[in-house]
Amino acid sequence: MQKGAIGIIGGSGLYRMFTNRELVNINTSYGEPSSPIQVGTVADKKVYFIPRHGINHEIPPHKVNYRANIQAMYDLGVRQIFATHALGSLNPSMKPGDFVISDQFVNKTWGREDTYFNGPDTVHISTSDPFCNCLRNNISKVFDRFGFKYHKKATMLVIQGPRFSTRAENLIFSQERNDVISMTGYPEAVLARERGICYVSVGIVTDIACVLGSKVHPQHPSSHAEVVNTFEVSVENILSVLDYAVTNIDKQKIHCECIQSLKGAKC
Ligand SMILES: [Zn+2]
Repeated sequence: MQKGAIGIIGGSGLYRMFTNRELVNINTSYGEPSSPIQVGTVADKKVYFIPRHGINHEIPPHKVNYRANIQAMYDLGVRQIFATHALGSLNPSMKPGDFVISDQFVNKTWGREDTYFNGPDTVHISTSDPFCNCLRNNISKVFDRFGFKYHKKATMLVIQGPRFSTRAENLIFSQERNDVISMTGYPEAVLARERGICYVSVGIVTDIACVLGSKVHPQHPSSHAEVVNTFEVSVENILSVLDYAVTNIDKQKIHCECIQSLKGAKC
Protein backbone atom coordinates (compact mmCIF):
# COMPACT_ATOMS: atom_id res chain seq x y z
CA MET A 1 0.00 0.00 0.00
CA GLN A 2 1.27 3.44 -0.91
CA LYS A 3 -0.22 6.21 1.24
CA GLY A 4 -0.97 9.36 -0.65
CA ALA A 5 -1.94 7.58 -3.85
CA ILE A 6 -4.48 9.19 -6.15
CA GLY A 7 -7.87 7.78 -7.06
CA ILE A 8 -10.11 8.37 -10.05
CA ILE A 9 -13.77 7.34 -10.17
CA GLY A 10 -15.70 7.78 -13.37
CA GLY A 11 -16.81 6.43 -16.70
CA SER A 12 -15.18 3.45 -18.35
CA GLY A 13 -13.82 5.72 -21.12
CA LEU A 14 -11.17 6.81 -18.64
CA TYR A 15 -9.49 3.40 -18.93
CA ARG A 16 -7.45 5.04 -21.66
CA MET A 17 -5.64 7.17 -19.09
CA PHE A 18 -3.00 4.54 -18.46
CA THR A 19 -0.65 2.90 -20.88
CA ASN A 20 0.76 0.61 -18.22
CA ARG A 21 -1.92 -0.98 -16.11
CA GLU A 22 -2.88 -3.98 -14.06
CA LEU A 23 -6.02 -5.04 -12.24
CA VAL A 24 -6.30 -5.49 -8.49
CA ASN A 25 -9.09 -7.56 -6.96
CA ILE A 26 -10.03 -6.19 -3.57
CA ASN A 27 -12.85 -6.86 -1.14
CA THR A 28 -13.82 -4.50 1.67
CA SER A 29 -15.79 -4.66 4.91
CA TYR A 30 -18.65 -3.14 2.89
CA GLY A 31 -18.55 -5.52 -0.07
CA GLU A 32 -16.88 -5.47 -3.45
CA PRO A 33 -16.25 -2.29 -5.45
CA SER A 34 -17.84 -1.80 -8.86
CA SER A 35 -15.07 -3.77 -10.57
CA PRO A 36 -11.49 -4.91 -10.07
CA ILE A 37 -9.46 -1.75 -9.61
CA GLN A 38 -7.16 -0.62 -12.36
CA VAL A 39 -3.71 0.45 -11.23
CA GLY A 40 -1.45 2.58 -13.34
CA THR A 41 1.23 5.19 -13.04
CA VAL A 42 1.12 8.78 -14.19
CA ALA A 43 4.39 10.70 -13.86
CA ASP A 44 5.65 8.11 -11.35
CA LYS A 45 2.55 8.49 -9.20
CA LYS A 46 0.42 5.49 -8.41
CA VAL A 47 -3.14 6.01 -9.60
CA TYR A 48 -6.15 3.78 -8.94
CA PHE A 49 -9.22 3.86 -11.15
CA ILE A 50 -12.72 2.48 -10.53
CA PRO A 51 -15.33 2.56 -13.31
CA ARG A 52 -18.31 3.56 -11.15
CA HIS A 53 -20.88 1.62 -13.18
CA GLY A 54 -18.72 -1.47 -13.71
CA ILE A 55 -16.62 -2.44 -16.70
CA ASN A 56 -19.65 -3.01 -18.92
CA HIS A 57 -21.86 -0.32 -17.38
CA GLU A 58 -23.90 -3.00 -15.68
CA ILE A 59 -24.51 -1.13 -12.37
CA PRO A 60 -27.17 1.62 -12.41
CA PRO A 61 -26.66 4.76 -10.26
CA HIS A 62 -28.93 3.60 -7.42
CA LYS A 63 -27.20 0.21 -7.20
CA VAL A 64 -23.57 1.36 -7.05
CA ASN A 65 -21.86 0.22 -3.85
CA TYR A 66 -20.50 3.68 -3.07
CA ARG A 67 -19.22 2.62 0.36
CA ALA A 68 -17.19 -0.25 -1.09
CA ASN A 69 -15.70 1.96 -3.81
CA ILE A 70 -14.51 4.65 -1.37
CA GLN A 71 -13.37 2.08 1.21
CA ALA A 72 -11.35 0.22 -1.45
CA MET A 73 -9.65 3.48 -2.37
CA TYR A 74 -8.95 4.20 1.28
CA ASP A 75 -7.57 0.69 1.91
CA LEU A 76 -5.24 1.12 -1.08
CA GLY A 77 -3.83 4.32 0.43
CA VAL A 78 -5.68 6.81 -1.75
CA ARG A 79 -5.98 10.21 -0.11
CA GLN A 80 -7.11 12.32 -3.07
CA ILE A 81 -9.94 11.44 -5.44
CA PHE A 82 -10.93 13.03 -8.74
CA ALA A 83 -14.46 11.92 -9.67
CA THR A 84 -16.09 12.61 -13.01
CA HIS A 85 -19.82 13.22 -13.33
CA ALA A 86 -22.14 13.64 -16.30
CA LEU A 87 -24.43 16.59 -15.58
CA GLY A 88 -27.74 17.84 -16.90
CA SER A 89 -27.92 21.63 -16.90
CA LEU A 90 -30.64 23.73 -15.29
CA ASN A 91 -28.57 26.91 -15.61
CA PRO A 92 -28.69 28.56 -19.07
CA SER A 93 -25.05 29.67 -18.71
CA MET A 94 -23.90 26.06 -18.32
CA LYS A 95 -23.95 24.47 -21.75
CA PRO A 96 -23.17 20.99 -23.11
CA GLY A 97 -19.40 20.48 -23.18
CA ASP A 98 -18.74 22.94 -20.32
CA PHE A 99 -16.83 21.70 -17.30
CA VAL A 100 -18.31 22.28 -13.84
CA ILE A 101 -16.55 22.22 -10.46
CA SER A 102 -19.48 21.90 -8.06
CA ASP A 103 -19.03 23.42 -4.62
CA GLN A 104 -22.38 22.33 -3.14
CA PHE A 105 -24.82 19.49 -3.53
CA VAL A 106 -28.46 18.92 -2.67
CA ASN A 107 -29.31 15.29 -2.05
CA LYS A 108 -32.63 13.94 -3.33
CA THR A 109 -31.59 10.29 -3.40
CA TRP A 110 -32.91 7.70 -1.01
CA GLY A 111 -31.99 4.26 0.28
CA ARG A 112 -28.28 4.63 -0.46
CA GLU A 113 -25.81 3.59 2.22
CA ASP A 114 -24.27 6.98 2.89
CA THR A 115 -22.23 6.61 6.08
CA TYR A 116 -19.60 4.37 7.62
CA PHE A 117 -20.98 5.14 11.07
CA ASN A 118 -24.20 3.25 11.72
CA GLY A 119 -23.38 2.84 15.41
CA PRO A 120 -22.20 2.21 18.03
CA ASP A 121 -19.82 4.99 16.95
CA THR A 122 -21.96 8.05 16.26
CA VAL A 123 -20.30 10.65 14.08
CA HIS A 124 -21.54 13.95 12.65
CA ILE A 125 -19.09 15.28 10.07
CA SER A 126 -19.37 18.76 8.63
CA THR A 127 -20.50 18.95 5.01
CA SER A 128 -20.96 22.71 4.86
CA ASP A 129 -18.43 22.61 2.03
CA PRO A 130 -18.77 19.02 0.84
CA PHE A 131 -16.10 19.07 -1.87
CA CYS A 132 -12.39 19.57 -1.20
CA ASN A 133 -11.60 23.23 -1.77
CA CYS A 134 -7.90 22.49 -2.30
CA LEU A 135 -8.61 20.10 -5.17
CA ARG A 136 -11.26 22.47 -6.54
CA ASN A 137 -8.62 25.21 -6.77
CA ASN A 138 -6.16 22.73 -8.19
CA ILE A 139 -8.47 21.59 -10.97
CA SER A 140 -9.60 25.12 -11.83
CA LYS A 141 -5.95 26.07 -12.49
CA VAL A 142 -5.70 23.13 -14.85
CA PHE A 143 -8.83 24.26 -16.73
CA ASP A 144 -7.32 27.76 -16.96
CA ARG A 145 -4.11 26.32 -18.35
CA PHE A 146 -5.90 24.34 -21.05
CA GLY A 147 -8.33 27.16 -21.82
CA PHE A 148 -11.38 24.96 -21.39
CA LYS A 149 -14.68 26.65 -20.56
CA TYR A 150 -15.61 25.82 -16.99
CA HIS A 151 -17.68 27.03 -14.05
CA LYS A 152 -15.91 27.50 -10.73
CA LYS A 153 -19.03 27.05 -8.61
CA ALA A 154 -22.29 25.17 -8.96
CA THR A 155 -24.92 23.51 -6.86
CA MET A 156 -25.33 19.91 -7.95
CA LEU A 157 -28.73 18.36 -7.35
CA VAL A 158 -28.45 14.59 -7.05
CA ILE A 159 -31.51 12.60 -8.08
CA GLN A 160 -32.11 8.91 -7.53
CA GLY A 161 -32.44 7.87 -11.14
CA PRO A 162 -32.25 5.78 -13.15
CA ARG A 163 -34.96 7.80 -14.94
CA PHE A 164 -34.44 11.40 -15.92
CA SER A 165 -36.55 13.97 -14.09
CA THR A 166 -39.88 15.36 -15.35
CA ARG A 167 -40.36 18.87 -16.73
CA ALA A 168 -42.29 19.77 -13.55
CA GLU A 169 -39.56 18.39 -11.30
CA ASN A 170 -36.96 20.38 -13.24
CA LEU A 171 -39.05 23.56 -12.84
CA ILE A 172 -38.96 23.08 -9.07
CA PHE A 173 -35.27 22.18 -9.11
CA SER A 174 -34.41 25.33 -11.08
CA GLN A 175 -36.61 27.51 -8.84
CA GLU A 176 -34.64 26.08 -5.92
CA ARG A 177 -31.50 27.50 -7.58
CA ASN A 178 -29.83 24.23 -8.45
CA ASP A 179 -27.43 24.52 -11.39
CA VAL A 180 -26.84 20.96 -12.54
CA ILE A 181 -28.35 17.50 -12.05
CA SER A 182 -26.45 14.26 -11.40
CA MET A 183 -27.46 10.71 -10.49
CA THR A 184 -24.12 9.75 -8.92
CA GLY A 185 -22.91 12.87 -7.08
CA TYR A 186 -24.14 11.47 -3.77
CA PRO A 187 -22.96 9.90 -1.48
CA GLU A 188 -19.34 9.59 -2.72
CA ALA A 189 -18.27 13.01 -1.45
CA VAL A 190 -19.51 12.47 2.11
CA LEU A 191 -18.10 8.96 2.34
CA ALA A 192 -14.72 10.30 1.22
CA ARG A 193 -15.02 13.05 3.83
CA GLU A 194 -15.74 10.45 6.54
CA ARG A 195 -12.51 8.71 5.55
CA GLY A 196 -10.52 11.98 5.47
CA ILE A 197 -10.00 11.78 1.71
CA CYS A 198 -9.90 14.91 -0.45
CA TYR A 199 -12.63 14.58 -3.11
CA VAL A 200 -13.48 16.81 -6.06
CA SER A 201 -16.14 16.48 -8.74
CA VAL A 202 -14.93 17.07 -12.30
CA GLY A 203 -18.30 17.51 -13.98
CA ILE A 204 -19.16 17.80 -17.65
CA VAL A 205 -22.48 19.15 -18.90
CA THR A 206 -23.90 16.50 -21.20
CA ASP A 207 -27.42 17.81 -21.81
CA ILE A 208 -29.87 20.57 -20.99
CA ALA A 209 -32.78 19.61 -18.75
CA CYS A 210 -36.31 20.33 -19.99
CA VAL A 211 -38.06 22.75 -17.66
CA LEU A 212 -41.85 23.06 -17.65
CA GLY A 213 -42.98 26.30 -19.26
CA SER A 214 -39.45 27.55 -19.98
CA LYS A 215 -38.60 29.18 -23.30
CA VAL A 216 -34.89 28.90 -22.52
CA HIS A 217 -34.71 25.15 -22.14
CA PRO A 218 -35.22 22.76 -25.05
CA GLN A 219 -38.44 20.98 -25.87
CA HIS A 220 -36.86 17.62 -26.59
CA PRO A 221 -36.13 15.49 -23.53
CA SER A 222 -32.65 14.30 -22.60
CA SER A 223 -31.75 10.82 -23.76
CA HIS A 224 -29.11 8.45 -22.48
CA ALA A 225 -27.60 8.30 -25.97
CA GLU A 226 -27.21 12.10 -25.98
CA VAL A 227 -25.53 12.04 -22.57
CA VAL A 228 -23.11 9.27 -23.59
CA ASN A 229 -22.29 10.98 -26.87
CA THR A 230 -21.47 14.36 -25.29
CA PHE A 231 -19.40 12.67 -22.58
CA GLU A 232 -17.44 10.69 -25.16
CA VAL A 233 -16.74 13.82 -27.21
CA SER A 234 -15.34 15.43 -24.06
CA VAL A 235 -13.44 12.43 -22.76
CA GLU A 236 -10.12 13.38 -24.39
CA ASN A 237 -10.32 16.79 -22.68
CA ILE A 238 -11.14 15.11 -19.36
CA LEU A 239 -8.17 12.77 -19.78
CA SER A 240 -5.86 15.72 -20.51
CA VAL A 241 -7.12 17.58 -17.42
CA LEU A 242 -6.76 14.56 -15.12
CA ASP A 243 -3.34 13.68 -16.49
CA TYR A 244 -2.03 17.20 -15.92
CA ALA A 245 -3.68 17.49 -12.47
CA VAL A 246 -2.22 14.17 -11.31
CA THR A 247 1.21 14.94 -12.75
CA ASN A 248 1.41 18.30 -11.01
CA ILE A 249 -0.46 17.64 -7.79
CA ASP A 250 2.68 17.83 -5.61
CA LYS A 251 3.46 21.30 -6.92
CA GLN A 252 0.12 22.49 -5.60
CA LYS A 253 1.25 21.60 -2.07
CA ILE A 254 -2.12 20.49 -0.90
CA HIS A 255 -2.59 20.94 2.83
CA CYS A 256 -6.29 20.96 3.52
CA GLU A 257 -8.64 20.13 6.33
CA CYS A 258 -10.29 17.07 4.79
CA ILE A 259 -7.94 14.72 6.62
CA GLN A 260 -9.15 16.21 9.91
CA SER A 261 -12.82 15.55 9.17
CA LEU A 262 -13.43 13.37 12.22
CA LYS A 263 -11.87 15.83 14.65
CA GLY A 264 -14.63 16.84 17.03
CA ALA A 265 -17.21 14.91 15.01
CA LYS A 266 -17.54 11.87 17.28
CA CYS A 267 -20.07 11.81 20.06
ZN1 LIG B 1 -9.12 18.27 0.85
